[in-house]
Amino acid sequence: MALVHRERGEPFAIRSGGHGLSAGAANIKDGVTVDLRSISTVEVLDPLNIIVTGGCDAAIGAGGFLTGGGIGVPSVTAGWGCDDVLEYEIVVASGEILRVSADRHPDLFVALKGGLNNFGVVTQFTMRTHPIGKLWAGFTAYPGADAPRLLAAYLDFMEPANRDPHVGLIELYGWTRKHAAVYATLILLYSLPHPYPAVYQNLIDNSTVLYNTLRAMNEVDSEESGYIISRYNRRSGSYQQNRHVLLPTPCRVRGGDDLDRTESDLRVDT
Ligand SMILES: Cc1cc2nc3c(=O)[nH]c(=O)nc-3n(C[C@H](O)[C@H](O)[C@H](O)COP(=O)(O)OP(=O)(O)OC[C@H]3O[C@@H](n4cnc5c(N)ncnc54)[C@H](O)[C@@H]3O)c2cc1C
Repeated sequence: MALVHRERGEPFAIRSGGHGLSAGAANIKDGVTVDLRSISTVEVLDPLNIIVTGGCDAAIGAGGFLTGGGIGVPSVTAGWGCDDVLEYEIVVASGEILRVSADRHPDLFVALKGGLNNFGVVTQFTMRTHPIGKLWAGFTAYPGADAPRLLAAYLDFMEPANRDPHVGLIELYGWTRKHAAVYATLILLYSLPHPYPAVYQNLIDNSTVLYNTLRAMNEVDSEESGYIISRYNRRSGSYQQNRHVLLPTPCRVRGGDDLDRTESDLRVDT
């Protein structure tokens, strides 16, 4: 790659899982894409009862996840994925292959924890493992009529006084053309195997729930069962929740669902 770039001046991109959001993140026009999908050795750790931090969506590649930061289910208690990388094998611009750790190339070691593709192509990660933890997690769905209750409960949940280090929550609202209705979906995580913890009591109402997969499980099951987030996601914004802005705003969503919508047929009227 160094030769292609130096001798022929061709730009190149590095692709791992291909889950990056921005156009051109892991592909390039009129250049060469280094596709790392075939460098994929997976050893199943489950029988050993240990886990490494991976993405909450199974399609996320280790390359972008671990060089970009990496927030997964174990992050609730264990921190970001990049915190657990003990050693990198990396091909740098000169073509040299380096082993990088806290002792060897310490500046590069720090830079790679968030540096994405700016310092070379990482070809191997050596990671700290964690014992597989038990947690309580799942999806719930509610009719759109529950939105005022859910938004009010969300605002209470976000109050600093109600902070609980074990929580993770995504609250989503979506229109499905098939049922011609708005649904609210909550994706909930509690990083201890405690069913229905007090912090969620205003969000969960089993009298109106349409769908509920909440259950105690281990971290491997939860990564396989879908999209669960850690508390770091919801703490990462720097904006303030304002109930006077959020609650009085009537909001109607018209249009298609995720499968068949186009930008022009999805309109939000407030
Ligand atoms: C639906 C969705 C859910 C997501 N959920 C999470 C989540 O739960 N937690 C989280 O932390 N993030 C999440 N993300 C963000 C995602 O993890 C990051 O965008 C991550 O960088 C993707 O990694 P990738 O290898 O799949 O992507 P790619 O598109 O292949 O790569 C992303 C970037 O990393 C660089 N890169 C990839 N591999 C290497 C390598 N080996 N060496 C050097 N550079 C490399 C690429 O050049 C590119 O710039 C989510 C994104 C989406 C769209």
